[in-house]
Amino acid sequence: MTPTGPVRVLAALVLCTKLLAAQAVTPTPAAGPITAIKAGRLIDPATGTTLTNQVILVQNGRFTAIGTGIVIPRDAQVIDLSAMTVLPGLVDAHNHLALTYKDVPERNSYYITTILDDTPLRAIQAVSNGIQMLSSGFTIVRDMGNNGKYADIALRRGIEQGWVPGPTIIPSGLIIAGMGGQFSPNPEMAFERRIVYPEYLEADTPDEIIKAVRQNALVGARVIKICVDCKLWGYTTEEIKLVISEAAKAGLRVEGHVQSVAGAHRAVDAGIWSIAHDNGMNDTIHRIMAQKHIFRAGTETPASLVGHTTEARFKQTVAMLRNGWENKVPLTFSTDADYYVPGKTRGEVAIEFIETWKAAGIPAPDILRAMTTVGYEVSETTSTRGPISVGMFADLIAVPGNPLQSIDALRDVRFVLKNGLVFKRDGVMTPAAFFNGGPVNGVNAR
Ligand SMILES: [Zn+2]
Repeated sequence: MTPTGPVRVLAALVLCTKLLAAQAVTPTPAAGPITAIKAGRLIDPATGTTLTNQVILVQNGRFTAIGTGIVIPRDAQVIDLSAMTVLPGLVDAHNHLALTYKDVPERNSYYITTILDDTPLRAIQAVSNGIQMLSSGFTIVRDMGNNGKYADIALRRGIEQGWVPGPTIIPSGLIIAGMGGQFSPNPEMAFERRIVYPEYLEADTPDEIIKAVRQNALVGARVIKICVDCKLWGYTTEEIKLVISEAAKAGLRVEGHVQSVAGAHRAVDAGIWSIAHDNGMNDTIHRIMAQKHIFRAGTETPASLVGHTTEARFKQTVAMLRNGWENKVPLTFSTDADYYVPGKTRGEVAIEFIETWKAAGIPAPDILRAMTTVGYEVSETTSTRGPISVGMFADLIAVPGNPLQSIDALRDVRFVLKNGLVFKRDGVMTPAAFFNGGPVNGVNAR
């Protein structure tokens, strides 16, 4: 190639850059239509307080004014929730939207589900499960792995781009774990990969750990999940610290799946962000978690979901949840919902978990705080999404009862607003505004 070739290409690139720069200075889009919500009661879960007869104005997907005596613009769309309680959206801090194991045909063995259902099918399940969660009032879901090959990240992007409605997804991508992940693969599977084996990103050495974190960050994970002790050898405190420091370079926090007391000790010693499941919890661990402000995503399965826990296990779960609350551990509401319960949506399965919290004798305002305020903290959305305050993305829900008095009020979510768009009204999903003939980038930023 002659020297003139690259020079010409460079000149063309400079021209393109100039054109792009010219496009970038176009004026910001005109202010969109205004929605005015009349809220009979408005709850602030952070303080457990209720204001009455509030007006909430929403424009361009965000809250623009909140209070009494606010003048409703003449051309505003008015939504009358004056007979309802309005509150921020709920958070499930641990779900698996792209995994649905079931009794038939796989007898609730999720390993078999991963063989039967490919990632494209699971991504479609995730869309449906996300819609079901949103209908039950969950506007944020932390999606913590076991989602095929990154169906969780595809779900987040699909929702962000405006293809489908759904909660704001905080995806972990593949769970990083030592060889075998949570399974016990046979030799053909583990070493020769002759059977599909998609669920874990195996990392056994420091180099592999660094590369695994980077792989998840590269493709769009918003949190890193590791399996601390899925095998007897598990990760050491030093290895967990390595995960945390590598994740921090990409601005990501680390959640640990923990199933033993020894694993919990290593995780809290390393300074992990959050711990999933309660198997490794005890009074000592809870004290350390409270002191270090480590979030607890205990995934407390209620006895009412028959077949998914036992009476003895439920009692232990309730006692440990109670102990965590008494020790002032930052408690999140988390379900680990990844199965089909006949007759229930995924959202109804998730809300059923309040039964465990009630059994633990935790006051309704504290349960609600775990389902909202602490959920935004663990999701790292507190300054962008969650609280109903001016400047935030406009997500809210409404119920006829008062969840500060009875948490069961959350079983009857009648109204859902997501990004300023009405998703559910009078108890019926009305998602038309969420469907677009092309991607709408940037609508649903974190
Ligand atoms: Zn899980």
